[in-house]
Amino acid sequence: MTASPHVVVIGAGTLGMCTALDLVEQGARVTVLEAQSIASGSSGRSVGVVGSQFTDPFEIMLRVHSLRRFRQWEGEGLAFNHIGYLRLARTPAQMELFARSVEIQAEAGLRSRLVRANELRELVPHINPDGLEGGLFGPDNGFLDPHEMCNLLAQMVRAKGGEIRQYRKLLGVQRRPGGYALETDGDPIDRERRLIDCDVVVNAGGAWAPRVAALFGQRLHIWPERHEAVAIHLDEPLRYTMPMVMDLVNGEGSGLNFRHEKPGELIAEIHKVKSAAPEDPDNYNDQCEEQSKVDLAELLLERVPDLPGARLGRGWAGLYPVTADHRPFVGPIDASEPTLITAAGAGGYGIQLAPVIGQIAADWVLHGAPVSVPGSRSLAPSAERNVPGH
Ligand SMILES: Cc1cc2nc3c(=O)[nH]c(=O)nc-3n(C[C@H](O)[C@H](O)[C@H](O)COP(=O)(O)OP(=O)(O)OC[C@H]3O[C@@H](n4cnc5c(N)ncnc54)[C@H](O)[C@@H]3O)c2cc1C
Repeated sequence: MTASPHVVVIGAGTLGMCTALDLVEQGARVTVLEAQSIASGSSGRSVGVVGSQFTDPFEIMLRVHSLRRFRQWEGEGLAFNHIGYLRLARTPAQMELFARSVEIQAEAGLRSRLVRANELRELVPHINPDGLEGGLFGPDNGFLDPHEMCNLLAQMVRAKGGEIRQYRKLLGVQRRPGGYALETDGDPIDRERRLIDCDVVVNAGGAWAPRVAALFGQRLHIWPERHEAVAIHLDEPLRYTMPMVMDLVNGEGSGLNFRHEKPGELIAEIHKVKSAAPEDPDNYNDQCEEQSKVDLAELLLERVPDLPGARLGRGWAGLYPVTADHRPFVGPIDASEPTLITAAGAGGYGIQLAPVIGQIAADWVLHGAPVSVPGSRSLAPSAERNVPGH
């Protein structure tokens, strides 16, 4: 491959934009093809939380890489709201895992601390601590607007010579010696103008990534899982900033989470809800169902019963692109085709993991292996991982 290959990234969501930026910064020629507009897929429907309050050392390490990059982008104008992140524990065993997380995060330079049950109200005065053992709190975590993030990254990609073509959907693929000719929609008359030659393709197609892979004759198992979020309006602004509060530890807990959005408004979501069947990303109900609002209200009433005049507001739904083991796919599906790299399947963590996924995907493109993030070869969509999961 040439020193500065032409790489086409499919998808202008968080994963595609982060990958594109890493690639242009390292000298590649980059074209992003986006079927719709920037952040029009899952990224624009997310609640944008970025946190490192996890218990698995590898999951924490991935976020350490991402957080470094977010900090750098804050210097370039990214608005990151450092409201803090509180993960709730229901058992002493979970508190032990949290204690270890505090140590791991400290070794990586991240601030976090244990919060005992009787201290929870210092952070969240409205919380009902019944049934809780305590929590793990990271004061520097927070949220951002993924739409703004993708647009900022797009500006940075363009400033470094990259190109972003919106409303250009990949429709077909021809293999050519040393690369591909990609057929896109666009010019209805001149077929040549719809063809783009490139050396490498990164499939960052989110919930559509299996369809993109199929154009290359490859099979990718990503389950588009529908999730809903709802705004909660309060009669009066809280006298404190509600951090991100998450009731889920390694799959245990209700999955309820909520956070500050603006004075007098919170955003809430149930992380655990599962679609009964895979959704069609081109045709799913993108509104919140009434029953879901009722379920959410019940969980909120149990955990934060006295929020002043809380009312459910607008709701929406989007898709988590989920893999069988709930870890993203980053790398080639087929080792014999190293010029097709997948960067997809980040589930409910595709905002916070996007910077590190972009870094690993760029490594695969430019070095043929994930050289900058230890252990990340395990994220490749190998035959063991790339299997149906639901
Ligand atoms: C309600 C909700 C809340 C969430 N909250 C969080 C959160 O708090 N924190 C977090 O980290 N994550 C969260 N997520 C998950 C996160 O939104 C996703 O993991 C992430 O957005 C996936 O990004 P992506 O770039 O892989 O996919 P997308 O953003 O979907 O981007 C894929 C893009 O590819 C384009 N595309 C598809 N096919 C083609 C083609 N043939 N040609 C050209 N372009 C194509 C699509 O148009 C799309 O824009 C949430 C998700 C939902 C639904």
